[in-house]
Amino acid sequence: MLTTRRQALKTLTAAALASTALGRFSAQAQTPAAPAPPAPTGPFKLPPLPYAYDALEPHIDAETMHLHHDKHHAAYVNKLNEALAKEPSFPAGTDIDTLMKNLDTVPESIRTAVRNQGGGHANHSLFWKTLSPKAGIPSGDFAKALNDDLGGLDKLKEEMAKAGAGLFGSGWVWLVLDGGKKLTVLTLPNQDSPLTEGHYPLFGIDVWEHAYYLKYHNLRPDYIKAIWNVVNWEFISNRYAEAMKA
Ligand code: MN
Repeated sequence: MLTTRRQALKTLTAAALASTALGRFSAQAQTPAAPAPPAPTGPFKLPPLPYAYDALEPHIDAETMHLHHDKHHAAYVNKLNEALAKEPSFPAGTDIDTLMKNLDTVPESIRTAVRNQGGGHANHSLFWKTLSPKAGIPSGDFAKALNDDLGGLDKLKEEMAKAGAGLFGSGWVWLVLDGGKKLTVLTLPNQDSPLTEGHYPLFGIDVWEHAYYLKYHNLRPDYIKAIWNVVNWEFISNRYAEAMKA
């Protein structure tokens, strides 16, 4: 075990050296390291961001977007595919929302992995779409429901901010359509998907530290306050209308 670790460390060091101009010279004398195994492939793919990395500046900084999308979201997708590869007879399909809705049908051996990694993929795929440099305002039936169910946009902001500040640890604050098709604010821990709980997510605020720590440090409430400048209300209003039709 120790030897294997040492060998792995050696390989890593050689690879790191080889990537620098200085190291290239000495690395040439060694046997070239085996090529890295191909990235796991599976039915799920990382969707591209629908805008530039710096599009949400100054409210959400470009560096956070790079890490959040290219590293964190990508890791959820890769680990989801890795988990599903362990149960090849399970027909996961390619629709992440259906998979999360039917989490109880996932083989037990990979269910926790799908809950966490699949939830991460579903939640972030929606998150990018609900943000935009042009915030706009709630419209149509959604604006009316917001007034009727939650007392309007200012109340929603207040309620989500309070829920976000009160959520201990990592998780999301959600605006969902509940089973009775009423707008509801709730929090879920980790990457648990509202779909698994029988709700339809319209908009979620990611309150994991990776979503805000580079810019806002420990000040989660400041991040939540800033995010309202970049919420894509047109997308959310349309998503609401479609869900009500279904
Ligand atoms: Mn996140």
